[in-house]
Amino acid sequence: FADRDGVIWYDGELVPWREAKTHVLTHTLHYGMGVFEGIRAYNTDNGPCIFRLHEHTKRLFRSAHILRMHIPHAYDELIEAQRTVVRENGLDSAYLRTMCFYGSEGMGLRADNLKVHCIVAAWEWPSYMDPEAKEKGIKICTSSYTRHHVNITMCKAKANGNYINSMLALKEALDSGCEEALLLDNEGYVAEGSGENIFIVKEDGIIYTPELTSCLEGITRDTIIHFARDLGLEVREKRMTRDEVYVAREAFFTGSAAEVLPIREHDGRIIGDGRRGPITEKLQRMYFDQVTGKRSEYPEWLTSVR
Ligand code: PMP
Repeated sequence: FADRDGVIWYDGELVPWREAKTHVLTHTLHYGMGVFEGIRAYNTDNGPCIFRLHEHTKRLFRSAHILRMHIPHAYDELIEAQRTVVRENGLDSAYLRTMCFYGSEGMGLRADNLKVHCIVAAWEWPSYMDPEAKEKGIKICTSSYTRHHVNITMCKAKANGNYINSMLALKEALDSGCEEALLLDNEGYVAEGSGENIFIVKEDGIIYTPELTSCLEGITRDTIIHFARDLGLEVREKRMTRDEVYVAREAFFTGSAAEVLPIREHDGRIIGDGRRGPITEKLQRMYFDQVTGKRSEYPEWLTSVR
């Protein structure tokens, strides 16, 4: 992955992809204290546009604030850096990885002389699921791993180290023949997927999603809540049990990388009709139309890279 053409924005400079290197004693590599974002850009009639760039960049700054990490760049500079990277790599659609991490100026938990470095990389990254999954839905299982507790790691921060938990849960799910894991919180209530928020549609047609206690404050989650309410559908954010998912009429995951992904089976129980439900389909279509600039609503959610 490191051996390819292109440029990466690294501490304010565009450097060739192969030369965007850091030292093995980089502090974040040892302890996981860093913050990042995963963002997508889509091709629209006005050229490539980054979807909800401002909300992602604001979350990056919030994550850094939570970890007491000072990002040595202004907000506007990082906005420009992200636009530049998509443009300079000649990408029509892209996945962007923006990350802030500590350097190798010191070692140990007490190091207090660490420099904060920032990178922005972008590359073409089509959905990592089988394209059919967007229609057919995926099979998931409840994880044996618990989602981070709010007072163990900071769940509102999209922090590098938090993803050990996600990777363990995902690997376990994949090993057991599922496509994604559903993590419960420390009290046993539904939290989220390894990198997605979850929604269900109940028999009464009301849409439910877990409240923002231990799950990440997902930007796609927020987008879907806007769409559902615009359609006149009721959305409730509430504590949810795994068996509420079992008996839901529809269920789906949301995330910048995963987009809107129907769930057809959970822990061996078929959800609804075992395929993408009508509300999921409608919201999914709105999502793809929105990100590709085919809707006139929410124009502020698209930032052109030109
Ligand atoms: N939960 C977790 C743990 C995630 O990593 C992600 C992806 N950032 C999400 C939810 C979805 O968030 P978003 O819609 O902002 O990508």
